[in-house]
Amino acid sequence: MVQPAENTVSHSDAPPEQHSAAIRKVEVLTTGWAEQHKEHRYGTWMPRLLWALTSQSWVELPINMFLIHHKDGPVLFDTGLDPAIASDPSYISQVIGRILVRRIFRFHIGERDGLKHQLQSAGVRPSDIRKAVISHLHFDHVGGVADIPNAELLVSAREWAQLSEPHPEREWILREHIELQGANWKPIAFEATDDPVLQPFGGVYDVMGDGTMMLIPTPGHTPGSLSMLIQSQEMPPILLIGDLAYDPELIFEDRVPGTGNKTQLWETYAKVRALKASLPDLVILTSHKKSELTVEGAK
Ligand SMILES: [Zn+2]
Repeated sequence: MVQPAENTVSHSDAPPEQHSAAIRKVEVLTTGWAEQHKEHRYGTWMPRLLWALTSQSWVELPINMFLIHHKDGPVLFDTGLDPAIASDPSYISQVIGRILVRRIFRFHIGERDGLKHQLQSAGVRPSDIRKAVISHLHFDHVGGVADIPNAELLVSAREWAQLSEPHPEREWILREHIELQGANWKPIAFEATDDPVLQPFGGVYDVMGDGTMMLIPTPGHTPGSLSMLIQSQEMPPILLIGDLAYDPELIFEDRVPGTGNKTQLWETYAKVRALKASLPDLVILTSHKKSELTVEGAK
């Protein structure tokens, strides 16, 4: 039974010793705040460059990442924003990018907001992270990879291929913060599944080999964006969608943001709505909506 109590969903009505759930807890960690334009978040008829240069409206958003306490060790979904983006004027090596990023975002992030400190606050040593899933390669999702040197960094092979395309920086994929010495990137291919619930997505990747964390392709925001479905005993299923939508409600309103491939986004939104119809308890969490939810499973 689910008992929401303040920011926690817990399942304490059964003796803990009777359970050996693979996932104990899912936490939202936030690496600072930013502001984005209304047109960016909620969509517009305007092309991206036009709203970027003309919009005067700003909306606040958190830069979230997720910490999953699996019995085999903690796993991260995304690594957030690097505080250096606010303190180092040359964080973005291309001059045009440096100018444009100020038109598109305002950052509110300090040193203590970075991944290393967020993990320490959650009681996890950064060196204990052995696996991190990266939803896509935008700079506000890869900002902490240098803080977790022992982690295998899982990213879709399609997303990884963008690094070999001309000018990935024009799509906010900054090679200088991705191709770090010693970073253990692992581009993954999705495999066929006979799970009727996940089949429509065209493939899956089982992160832990036990079905508790399944990656699925959810293109649209970027061509190689992925989402992760978390399923464990006595816990509502959770879908982490990265930036597929900045607010999950927009998926149900079929309202795509002011960036990304609209046709792909609409196709993926329809698949996510079908998934929600199959799993009515599904909790959908995005990287850029405030959520203090902590989901605790049986210990
Ligand atoms: Zn993004």
